[in-house]
Amino acid sequence: MPRRSRSAHVLLLCALLASSPAFAVEITPEAMERYGNMAEALLRDGVSRKTVAGAGHVPAYANFLAQKFQQAGFPEQDIKVIPYGETAALVVRYRGDGSSNRKSILLSSHMDVVGADPGDWERHPFELQEDDTFYFGRGVLDNKFDVSLLTTLFVWLKAEGFVPSRDLIIAFTGDEESYQETVQHLTNEFRNLIDAEYALVVDGGGGALDDTGKAFQYQIGFAEKTYATFSMTARNRGGHSSMPRPDNAIFDLAAAIQRLEMHTFPVETNEITLTYFARTAPFLENEVGDAMARFAADPSDESAIETLRGKPEYVGTLGTTCIPTMLEAGHAENALPRSATATVNCRIFPGNSVEDIQRELQVVVGNSALEWAVVGTPVSSDASPFNPEVIDAVATSLDQIYPGVPVIPKMVSGTTDGAYFRAAGIPSYSLTGIFLNPADSYAHGLNERVRKASIPESLIFWRSMIALLAGPQQ
Ligand SMILES: [Zn+2]
Repeated sequence: MPRRSRSAHVLLLCALLASSPAFAVEITPEAMERYGNMAEALLRDGVSRKTVAGAGHVPAYANFLAQKFQQAGFPEQDIKVIPYGETAALVVRYRGDGSSNRKSILLSSHMDVVGADPGDWERHPFELQEDDTFYFGRGVLDNKFDVSLLTTLFVWLKAEGFVPSRDLIIAFTGDEESYQETVQHLTNEFRNLIDAEYALVVDGGGGALDDTGKAFQYQIGFAEKTYATFSMTARNRGGHSSMPRPDNAIFDLAAAIQRLEMHTFPVETNEITLTYFARTAPFLENEVGDAMARFAADPSDESAIETLRGKPEYVGTLGTTCIPTMLEAGHAENALPRSATATVNCRIFPGNSVEDIQRELQVVVGNSALEWAVVGTPVSSDASPFNPEVIDAVATSLDQIYPGVPVIPKMVSGTTDGAYFRAAGIPSYSLTGIFLNPADSYAHGLNERVRKASIPESLIFWRSMIALLAGPQQ
């Protein structure tokens, strides 16, 4: 990324924006400076709050943000802080005039973050730090950036007197990184507050930059694999280790694990994964790109499958994966184990149920004496349909910041709040205005960072999105 002063960058973007006929509302450099500063101040405040699971800091954050909406003129009855255990959700409705006769659009992000040990970081994780190019801190990328951005966006639009043609709803959840229960609390108990034609989950997706700072692709998440964890337990009557027998819980479990190691789930495809491979292929000028192109053209191409399966970053896009992640066995060094348990974590391709995959694993293992259990409550959701309105709006809005960047649909291997919106019947698309070099992606890791230019770029992107999806009717 070439170094450029921030204000120069803002001016450049404003010039780009003003030259685009698709967007009627011009952004003055003064307004961009003002709301850019607001987003930065919100990010600084957000990062200073240690909103990790169990710490109980989310409600104060939600109340602080609620106040910002109130001060901006949103009526009190349209701002709801919804407590849930030690955490909370915040829902804000931006009322439209109903002129489009369309259902609401939901915009969702999360206020909680993954834990961070200050001892491991070069910089303090719960303090916004910066250099010329980046902001650093836990949550600057995932997901306090977009919480700050959406809050600023609503405040800015309100200050301009903008009235959308349909309601816009912000839902900030409070435990996306841990239990993902606040989202379920919203879909189950507060459906009337968050019901929408579709949800834009502003978390994940977004643009990729190469080493020269050039944008080469933009991803929208359309589907998520089902995250499911199984425990597989061998039991035995045990005994003293001085009198061993051939039957042994650890041997039984080890044999089962070896059979899992030999197993590969069948290759599966859908419209999203095939489009993803076909559109990503041209950007990788290597054997992987070549394999993607061949696979997209013919999903039974064995050598393409072998190449892609050999890459941990792509194997999950080819089908279901299951892998042992934890072991627990025995109770004393001089006793025969009475039980041995393996934890097996699966990422299930859309269209398969958790039960189907458990059955397949049981067949593979071939030992009916083993006990199986599902850990936690997995949620399956179908892929969201292609939505031309959203895709066109994204492409037009990207023209304001990175003209011509190809838009690529993506299936995510993890589970975000979006899976619960989908499971509740609200199609959900994950996207963000953030562009970054994949090498600079430190979400969940040490020294998480986001480009400072992401603030003006994202403000331009989201103003355009709102104008296109909920602006005055032509
Ligand atoms: Zn996130």
